[in-house]
Amino acid sequence: MIEGLRGAGLKLTPQRLAIVEAFADDPTHPTAQEIFERLRRRLPTMSFATVYTTLDTLAAAGLCAVRALSPGPARFDPNVAPHGHAVCDSCGALIDLPGRAARATAAPPAGFVVRAVETIYRGACARCRAR
Ligand SMILES: [Zn+2]
Ligand SMILES: [Zn+2]
Repeated sequence: MIEGLRGAGLKLTPQRLAIVEAFADDPTHPTAQEIFERLRRRLPTMSFATVYTTLDTLAAAGLCAVRALSPGPARFDPNVAPHGHAVCDSCGALIDLPGRAARATAAPPAGFVVRAVETIYRGACARCRAR
């Protein structure tokens, strides 16, 4: 990701490096706001715009994926390989499905070119069910 940032022409400021570090191994698909809040104590001068722009640049360069599978702000996914998700209806949590990408179960509409097939489970996550 750091190489990618450099390739995308962004200067590697300490703030941008901290954003990449906070996010590169994160399986929870955080929102920009969540990453901002995580880093706020360590980098009190960093603005939300810096976090958002950095994530946006990573996504535009194909170094992370933007997931908008639940209502609310987009979530960022450091895993750009095709993979499925379980989406919680109540808290919006996004959980990676283990294993390989899905196989299509229905034919695409006429003339439609399929770029990817993704499995999405919708329901209630363990945390919400325990409540
Ligand atoms: Zn939930
Ligand atoms: Zn994911």
